Amino acid sequence: VNTVRTPLLAGNWKMNLDHLQSIAFVQKLAWTLSDANHDFGAVEVAVFPPFTDLRSVQTLVAADKLPLAYGGQDVSEHDSGAYTGEISGAFLKALDCRYVIVGHSERRTLHGETDEQLAGKVAAAVRHGVVPILCVGETAEDLEQHGPSAVPVAQLRAALASVPKGTELVVAYEPVWAIGSGQAATPDQAEQVAAALRGVLAELLGDETAAATRILYGGSVKSGNIAGFMRQPNVDGALVGGASLDIQEFSAIVRYQK
Ligand code: PGA
Repeated sequence: VNTVRTPLLAGNWKMNLDHLQSIAFVQKLAWTLSDANHDFGAVEVAVFPPFTDLRSVQTLVAADKLPLAYGGQDVSEHDSGAYTGEISGAFLKALDCRYVIVGHSERRTLHGETDEQLAGKVAAAVRHGVVPILCVGETAEDLEQHGPSAVPVAQLRAALASVPKGTELVVAYEPVWAIGSGQAATPDQAEQVAAALRGVLAELLGDETAAATRILYGGSVKSGNIAGFMRQPNVDGALVGGASLDIQEFSAIVRYQK
């Protein structure tokens, strides 16, 4: 199966930028995306603002028809009801979110999200027509004890437990030891795990879906190291945290040259 995968460069803002700041940021990003010297048809750029910013971002993107996707940083496994503080996939869809991040390591660690819950969140996103960006990744301890791909592979298997073949999703390989540490994985390390994850996707969802699924690398991605990741055959983009908050850095990342 030979499929061309459009690279996805995604900025995870985490709990940064309120809705006014999000407007200022997206306006600057729009300037970058209008650069006639760069083919933004060949890559997809997305931002993941806090929930309170999404309506503002939607308004800007729609008004100026910006080539910018956006989505939430989390989604409820439930559709509606008595779940204080939760956000339904239906609400994200209503704001034209193309994607939602599911299972970021900060949610797994700080909020105790389990593999079982994450399978529910992946299913909820899919049910509402929002593409999940499922994050998987091992801690430094896991790496030492189980080697490079065991934990990410197990997390992927668990999260896809009830996903039908042909489902569109994105997988982000984010080693926990590389997130916010300045200590990115090497392109070879990222490629090795991405290849293993693609093998599991083929087994669970079929060769065609595996070939079409984008696998991102995340963890201390910057303008200075993006190209090395993008040269790997199984790495189809990046999920960027810290560097996505700096307009100069993020602009340089989305304009990477292989
Ligand atoms: P970082 O975060 O780029 O700041 O390391 C990545 C992430 O958490 O998605």
